[in-house]
Amino acid sequence: MKALAVFPGPREVKLIEVDPPRLAEPDDVMLKMLDVGICGTDKEICSFEYGTPPPGDDHLVIGHEALAEVVEVGPAVEGLKSGDLVVPTVRRPCPDPKCRACVAGHQDFCSTGNFTERGIKEAHGYLTSLVVDRERYMVPVPPVLADFGVLTEPLTIAEKALMQVFWLMEHRPPWLSPDTPADRRGEGLSALVLGAGPVGLLGAMALAVAGFNTYVYSRELPPSPRTDLVATIGATYVSSQQRAFSDLRDEMGNIDLIYEAVGHSDFAVAALRVLGQNGIFILTGVPGMEAFVQSDPASLMRQLVLKNQVLLGTVNAGRDAFAAALEDLERFVQRWPETATALIGGRYPVDEAQDLIFGRSAGIKSVVSFRT
Ligand SMILES: [Zn+2]
Ligand SMILES: [Zn+2]
Repeated sequence: MKALAVFPGPREVKLIEVDPPRLAEPDDVMLKMLDVGICGTDKEICSFEYGTPPPGDDHLVIGHEALAEVVEVGPAVEGLKSGDLVVPTVRRPCPDPKCRACVAGHQDFCSTGNFTERGIKEAHGYLTSLVVDRERYMVPVPPVLADFGVLTEPLTIAEKALMQVFWLMEHRPPWLSPDTPADRRGEGLSALVLGAGPVGLLGAMALAVAGFNTYVYSRELPPSPRTDLVATIGATYVSSQQRAFSDLRDEMGNIDLIYEAVGHSDFAVAALRVLGQNGIFILTGVPGMEAFVQSDPASLMRQLVLKNQVLLGTVNAGRDAFAAALEDLERFVQRWPETATALIGGRYPVDEAQDLIFGRSAGIKSVVSFRT
């Protein structure tokens, strides 16, 4: 069967032939891949910026955003059967018994850094026909999301952040009641999303569906498929080529939440200056090497302290965020069926995966499909 692999030694990316895997552990499941999303992480791995093969291998099969169908289960598998749809999580725990996060099943908060990640770090990924893994790392997907499940993993970035935001909001002003329905938790609050890539747009959808007055701020000029999508979810798109951050503050009032999905430090620091009273700033983008940014740490410190602000960095996601993402995806599909469809530009065979990684744009989220 085919797999898309990166060879960091000779710096090659190519389609290779690999043997089908076999069940090894009693709680293993065999997955037939249906859809695998391509994202910036894959592009960076294929540009040899990072990405580590499993020990002893000279290559890494990439792919970490997947929707799969269970086709075989080991004798100890209890909650899954052939035909079930699942999204496999990405990170696997470190072996250190003192790592409280991993011991608790929350390897997304691993404190040793010795975790592995399928398709990224020391474990092969999902850009291949068949994959075997333990049942505990699978998140079941309802059949109604058969066409959209591939969006789960990129949406978990926002969901993990929002779970923490709502926890914070329950414990500090505006004292969100834990009984508040999911679609009213952001009521009366405004949220600013930086960036209109898949992570930004999915984050905007999660914020809009939670009731936030949502703005998306990015470079591109409207109209475009991305800016149209922002309008269809009832959010407001603003181009940074037309309006400054200070204009946003004037228009939005107190900016309660900023969701950064660009990974550009200059832009993020400029945005931080308009974060409002008691505001929470979520950082999800990982900046590459950039020119030195001149900033004024004293005034930022003053602002963070005097306005009771929170800076929250977040990476990867646990099972709870995957489950929350699936719940939100169902809401998206119910509320904005055409928008959810528009997120996936098309499905392409694995032979074309390299084109998707190295340039050809295919809608907002590029998807490689193994469906036949
Ligand atoms: Zn990704
Ligand atoms: Zn750990």
